[in-house]
Amino acid sequence: MAATAWSFSGLNKQAKAVPSYYLDPFGCVKNQVDAETMMAFLDGSGWERGGNAGSADIIIVNSCGFIDAAKQESINAVLSYRKMYPRKKILLAGCLAQRYAPELRESLAEADGFFGNADLSRIAEAAAAALGGGFPARPAAAPDNAPEKPRGVSENPGDRPLLSMPGSAYVKISEGCDNCCAFCAIPAIRGPLCSRPIPDILAECRRLLERGVKEFCLIGQDLGCYGRDLGRGGDNPDLPALLEAISSLEGHFWVRTLYIHPDNFPLPILGICRRDKRFLPYFDVPFQHGSSRILKAMRRRGNAETYLGLVRHIRETLPGAAIRATFLVGFPGETDDDFRELLEFQEKAELEWAGAFAYSREEGTPAYTMKGRVPKKTAAERKRIAEERQAAISERRMEARVGEETEVLVEEQIDGEEGLYLGRLPCQAPEIDGAAVISSMRELSPGSLLPARVFARAGLDLEVATAGPDTAQSPRR
Ligand code: SF4
Repeated sequence: MAATAWSFSGLNKQAKAVPSYYLDPFGCVKNQVDAETMMAFLDGSGWERGGNAGSADIIIVNSCGFIDAAKQESINAVLSYRKMYPRKKILLAGCLAQRYAPELRESLAEADGFFGNADLSRIAEAAAAALGGGFPARPAAAPDNAPEKPRGVSENPGDRPLLSMPGSAYVKISEGCDNCCAFCAIPAIRGPLCSRPIPDILAECRRLLERGVKEFCLIGQDLGCYGRDLGRGGDNPDLPALLEAISSLEGHFWVRTLYIHPDNFPLPILGICRRDKRFLPYFDVPFQHGSSRILKAMRRRGNAETYLGLVRHIRETLPGAAIRATFLVGFPGETDDDFRELLEFQEKAELEWAGAFAYSREEGTPAYTMKGRVPKKTAAERKRIAEERQAAISERRMEARVGEETEVLVEEQIDGEEGLYLGRLPCQAPEIDGAAVISSMRELSPGSLLPARVFARAGLDLEVATAGPDTAQSPRR
């Protein structure tokens, strides 16, 4: 960093030649990629990563602004950091800052600055300003008005720091969303759909492979709409085209698709998964409800019948496929009958995994002014019932996998347990599904892909044994 020596104001100049930051990520995996990207820009601007909040000059809380509970969690983080470190600088970044900066400037004096997610390349500037100026927001060379990437930050997001477990990385293929579901504030926070061109995404995947990544989790608000904003008259790329492009990459790795709106599910991707086993038969499809009346009010085009048809088609095309969904309960106007229809859908769909969420009334969304509000207690009870039923379904679906020959991505050794590791199978997405408990006679390296056999279920986890060599070394299959 010699090129741009800096001076500090208000801090212990003698001790510090280079400012340091500590970033605390909150929210969804799309926000995690933003956190990783901001770290790349700060590192590229000559900032150091503080080992912990206490040793850093500034704490950056990368917040979530999606629903009330998540907003409160991010605000509580700022308040507790302020309590722990009365003099330290705190920058509130992320969706909450993007959505409410003007209000928060009035009401959250505990934060020294607010930085939305419209242009992450300016994070060093914002951190510099929050630290009280007098030191560089970007290398001297950079002209003032150009949001030029600071030196040291490669054009390739595949070089960014990764906060995922070893061997896995989220690849954000698009930002924003045009679906405008009635309950959702994302379009107001993240803006309209903005897809990344296929060559950009391929370059990122290539770089991640060079770094030893074995699993790409493709993410966006709705992968089903990927590319609709790139090109006109049908010459725009789409998700199948992107997967075809990724299938041209050499080597053995996994590709997992997360968040495909059921009304936009591109069926051709099933053929690609059948042809190229590196594309996992795993689909995260947020069905949200089973009552046609409520789905219509949510501004969704499908219904229980079409959604069950999609589930059947996925399973007929890809036997052994794993499907995850989310269910939203307590939406305005939801009656006991509507909720019963959701439970019937849940029972018939028999999905591997599903999370249930209670509706959060979000200003600026179409549902905000809708009549027939469901009491929070009722919504919470419906969430509890849906989760309870899903746990039993997931256990049944996992039990059916005992005896399966598959592959496992090793993530970490279990502390103090010789020969026992944690990892994931193709039917288990990071952080949200059950885990694979791996027994091995030999030492395993985190981030490796190995052949495995499922020999038992333990709750929602699966116990697997592995004997063979690292499958990533084997020729492409
Ligand atoms: S698909 Fe619907 S729920 Fe998902 S981000 Fe877009 S508007 Fe929100």
